[in-house]
Amino acid sequence: MKIILMGGPGAGKGTQANPLVERFNFPHISTGDMFRAAIKEGTALGLKAKSFMDAGGLVPDEVTIGIVAERLAQPDCAEGFLLDGFPRTLAQGSALASILDKLGMALDGVINIEVDEAVLIPRLTGRRICRKCGSSYHMVFNKPEQEGVCGQCGGELYQRTDDNVETAQNRLNVYNSQTEPLINFYQEQGLLKRINGDQPIDKVFADIMKALG
Ligand code: ADP
Ligand code: AMP
Repeated sequence: MKIILMGGPGAGKGTQANPLVERFNFPHISTGDMFRAAIKEGTALGLKAKSFMDAGGLVPDEVTIGIVAERLAQPDCAEGFLLDGFPRTLAQGSALASILDKLGMALDGVINIEVDEAVLIPRLTGRRICRKCGSSYHMVFNKPEQEGVCGQCGGELYQRTDDNVETAQNRLNVYNSQTEPLINFYQEQGLLKRINGDQPIDKVFADIMKALG
């Protein structure tokens, strides 16, 4: 299964990635996670990405497309993959089409998790992430059983530096202007599957599974 998870910042992409990976056993390719790992390791990629991420802007296309092209060419992607947070611009969407073409691959579907804008900011500002396994929690909507501790792996939970109100609002503006046009791009290709993301997490997952057939 080769799929893209789309949706605004905080729509629930990372949250749904977990059960999807469990179900399909494919690599979860999150460009945001790749950039955060590079920043933590202090690599050249991390240095390039940091200022854009801190401001809530997008990392330039040429940087982002390069890392995804490299990742998709790895043998573990041959049977399937889950792209999360990529593509985010029309240029990235076109580049992905030619990357997949060269690899002789085709997408099975594009899941668009739809959530009202008013819901997204509180989702982002209340989000907590596991330092060890990346699982996503929420202080109100999806609380860990033990405060500050990941229920999956016991790792420590932290708040992302870009999950403050101001940066979250910037990310939402960037999503509306740069990423939303991709919805039509995939709709025209007959690949788009629209999912109501303003439902309990399990129900969103069930709807995604139904949409994937
Ligand atoms: P994304 O990866 O799309 O940015 P996340 O999956 O990290 O978003 O979810 C953002 C926040 O919203 C997290 O705190 C998560 O626990 C919470 N969340 C995700 N899905 C739901 C849902 N269906 N209902 C309520 N809260 C949710
Ligand atoms: P995410 O983890 O998906 O919320 O992404 C966090 C940040 O990483 C974004 O706000 C961007 O700065 C950067 N980023 C992630 N994916 C992309 C992408 N496909 N294109 C450009 N920037 C990205």
